[in-house]
Amino acid sequence: MTPLPPGHTIGIVGGGQLGRMLAIAAARLGYHAHILTPHADSPATQVAASATIGPYDDQATLARFADATDLITFEFENVSAAGLDLLAGRRPVHPSPAILRASQDRVTEKCFINGAGIPTALWSSVSTRAELDRAVAELGLPAVLKTTRLGYDGRGQAMLRSAADLDAAWERLAPKPLILERAVDFACEISVIVARAEDGSLAAFDVAENRHRNHILDLSLAPARIPETTAERARDIACHLAGALRVTGLLAVEMFVDRDGQVLVNELAPRPHNSGHWTLDACPASQFEQHIRAIAGLPLASAARHSDAAMKNLVGPEALTLWPRILATPGLIPHHYGKREARPGRKLGHVTHLFPRGGLPGELGVEAAFAGLG
Ligand code: AMP
Repeated sequence: MTPLPPGHTIGIVGGGQLGRMLAIAAARLGYHAHILTPHADSPATQVAASATIGPYDDQATLARFADATDLITFEFENVSAAGLDLLAGRRPVHPSPAILRASQDRVTEKCFINGAGIPTALWSSVSTRAELDRAVAELGLPAVLKTTRLGYDGRGQAMLRSAADLDAAWERLAPKPLILERAVDFACEISVIVARAEDGSLAAFDVAENRHRNHILDLSLAPARIPETTAERARDIACHLAGALRVTGLLAVEMFVDRDGQVLVNELAPRPHNSGHWTLDACPASQFEQHIRAIAGLPLASAARHSDAAMKNLVGPEALTLWPRILATPGLIPHHYGKREARPGRKLGHVTHLFPRGGLPGELGVEAAFAGLG
């Protein structure tokens, strides 16, 4: 790929915080960011050079957007197949529509991961109530029932602990196509974000350890507190999957470490990921910069971290009431997403605390770093 010269325009589909941080990274490399979003005052449009405002499923809007850009990328996966084809017919699109389609559907995604020789939780696809009974008999309980499409932050999923939970879960999630996964009794959740350039070169960030609260990411710690052999396995898996997908850009790989130390892949996302926000402050080039470098045909930067880091999400209006205190707390690096509406459960910003390399403290030390943030 010939490198995209500075002064050109990178189109970003999506106006959320990932689009905002991608737009900032693009600007730092001399590009104009052009956002596609239905909302004029979105986190991404606030920092971008220009925008097309309109619905993601409107062909005329998509065409206008594409024509205003030199190449196109995404901050989320869920653009319709017809929309992706239209964009790809007009401009280079990274990651490719085939990769975006594969990661829109949990069954296609699991087939790809297992097909690449990488283990996941045992799973079975479910489209009728009888199939659910069969899948439960085969996989056992506890298990997690999920919609195959459009689920995030725990939406579109139900934990099945006993046979008594099946009816309510089925009522809530059917008739959408579903997948049943055996519940993993995990020791911890981790993720690796790897950048892949079109020539196949790779740069993987260190493994992050992720803690969720109410199904939403609460805390990421880098590096993860796991044995080095497990960390190496996780990085190898992420690099292997990025190579197998031939992705141009980032691949975020969410994984479980089970009680035996085995690494199982949970989910893939071909884009920047919340669990990689620590790279903004702890690495010379963040996940957002690596993504822009990869899609623009620039050389990847080193993904080495200069510091250890803990990142905490600011979720819901209650977190933002702490903003003045965050600004006054030494050591906290604030990131505000500029969202107009502070609805409960919404990610409104994050804070990072850096530690000298090798100096990430234990539980109590991390708690103290974020003292008072809940
Ligand atoms: P997901 O939307 O698939 O990323 O799931 C959101 C969260 O639900 C994960 O980060 C886990 O905490 C939990 N979860 C999802 N699938 C499983 C599973 N098979 N076993 C145990 N926990 C799960």
